[in-house]
Amino acid sequence: LGIPAAVYALPTRIRPTRVSCGPQFRRWLPISVSTLAQLLQVLGPEVISAPDPDADRYRRDFSVTAPAGVRILALARPRNSAEVAAVLRFCNERGVAVVPQGGMTGLVGGAVPISACVIISLERMRAILEIDRVAGTLTVEAGAPLQAVQEAADAADLMFPLDLGSRGSCQIGGNAATNAGGNRVLRYGMMRDLVLGIEVVLADGSVLSSLHKMLKNNSGYDLRQLFIGSEGTLGVITTLVLKLFPKPRSQSTALCMLRDYAAVLQLLGAARAGLAANLSAFEVMWPAFYDLGTTGLGRKPPLAASGGLCVLLEAQGVDAAQDSLRFEQLIAASMESAIVSDAVIAQSQREVREFWDIRDCPGEFPAVFWPQISFDVSVPTGDIGALVQELRDVLLERWPAIQLLFFGHAADGNLHLSARTAPDVLPEQEIEQLVYEVVGRRKGAISAEHGIGLQKRPYLYHSRSAAEIATMRRLKAALDPRGVLNPGKIF
Ligand SMILES: Cc1cc2nc3c(=O)[nH]c(=O)nc-3n(C[C@H](O)[C@H](O)[C@H](O)COP(=O)(O)OP(=O)(O)OC[C@H]3O[C@@H](n4cnc5c(N)ncnc54)[C@H](O)[C@@H]3O)c2cc1C
Repeated sequence: LGIPAAVYALPTRIRPTRVSCGPQFRRWLPISVSTLAQLLQVLGPEVISAPDPDADRYRRDFSVTAPAGVRILALARPRNSAEVAAVLRFCNERGVAVVPQGGMTGLVGGAVPISACVIISLERMRAILEIDRVAGTLTVEAGAPLQAVQEAADAADLMFPLDLGSRGSCQIGGNAATNAGGNRVLRYGMMRDLVLGIEVVLADGSVLSSLHKMLKNNSGYDLRQLFIGSEGTLGVITTLVLKLFPKPRSQSTALCMLRDYAAVLQLLGAARAGLAANLSAFEVMWPAFYDLGTTGLGRKPPLAASGGLCVLLEAQGVDAAQDSLRFEQLIAASMESAIVSDAVIAQSQREVREFWDIRDCPGEFPAVFWPQISFDVSVPTGDIGALVQELRDVLLERWPAIQLLFFGHAADGNLHLSARTAPDVLPEQEIEQLVYEVVGRRKGAISAEHGIGLQKRPYLYHSRSAAEIATMRRLKAALDPRGVLNPGKIF
């Protein structure tokens, strides 16, 4: 995995009180003794194995560890959709729970086993199957790491724009199952905007293949969107047709210091007007986050900390000379009108990387800001400043020594918060309750991009009405009537 081994060695939070496998799964437990032997008979040792009891690999994602004692009945590492289908058919007929796993970089415990189950890991299905330059598509098996997809597109002089800090470890199927967002949503959309075709194996083992390459397809319901963001609860994604884009020929990146969030909104307005479709990233870092991402991690700050907010602004285009001129004019005009108090424009790819390293520093939190609890919420972009103020007020009133880091993809309305109290004492549920109540009152989303998984399940009602949750349950019952797929996740 691309995530440093040290991260996995750190204690992660175990939440046995939240874990529920449901009475139906307890009823099925007695057949588990022979599950491994029977699956071995059906698929053989090439595909099925007993998980190494000491291996953590299949028991934890980036934030959550399985409760002690949860048994993995068998580990399936299929090589193709037919083998995925055989595992699901077998498990569905016997009522055995199945947990699909990608790169295990999820942040909400979606792929963590919580009851006796068979794991389906997509790690061996990682082939890039085709790049169609005319259609502008890349067809890929679900277990390919995101970075491998980016590199394959790049080698064909095209671009796949989804980008996350976990790119070396997360899988493209996991990205679809979580509807991942990341750094360039502003320009290219979320994962659901980047998938043209999908192949999914349903709970009963039937293969739903919709590997289309067309942008337009109104032939009935758009089934692909049902599975994107379903966190492994409706089907196992095996293959994807992804949308590619022309590779940008210019990139301009700057860090800007601003006095407050009102100035951030002014800069966003100017950037949208001045850069139009070229605007590709607009990342906001509040002062404590900027300090930690620079001096806190031993980096020289590219801009002196001013106690204000720092924006990472990026534009991508096709005309290197014109694009960088327009970018510089925007920064200069923003400084002249006192929207921006200080700014630096990257002069090399190394500096671009250094700027992004500051923004991507949450991957390094385990070394400097741990244990912590992180949030990924959204409200309309214009409300983020007030949301930050309100969260700060209510959390500091309750825990005066709490440390808060705010940062986010503000142009998408997406705010991240990492909170830390005294080392080793983290009143997680109380903090979560407070944060989600504030977000719920503001009619925001308790998950902007990481999903609900296990961790946010108790709070779903803050963002979804009873009618919406009931409709989700009806869809789940229709596609997975025995409830074998990733039980206990989302709702
Ligand atoms: C440092 C870091 C930075 C991150 N930055 C971002 C970010 O900017 N934006 C963002 O959105 N996320 C981010 N994440 C979260 C995470 O990387 C994403 O959620 C990613 O999409 C998960 O992919 P995965 O392959 O690791 O999935 P996993 O963690 O293995 O699984 C996640 C969920 O998807 C399901 N699943 C996985 N594969 C399949 C499949 N083939 N079929 C059906 N279901 C499946 C699992 O059951 C589970 O519910 C970050 C994580 C880290 C550690």
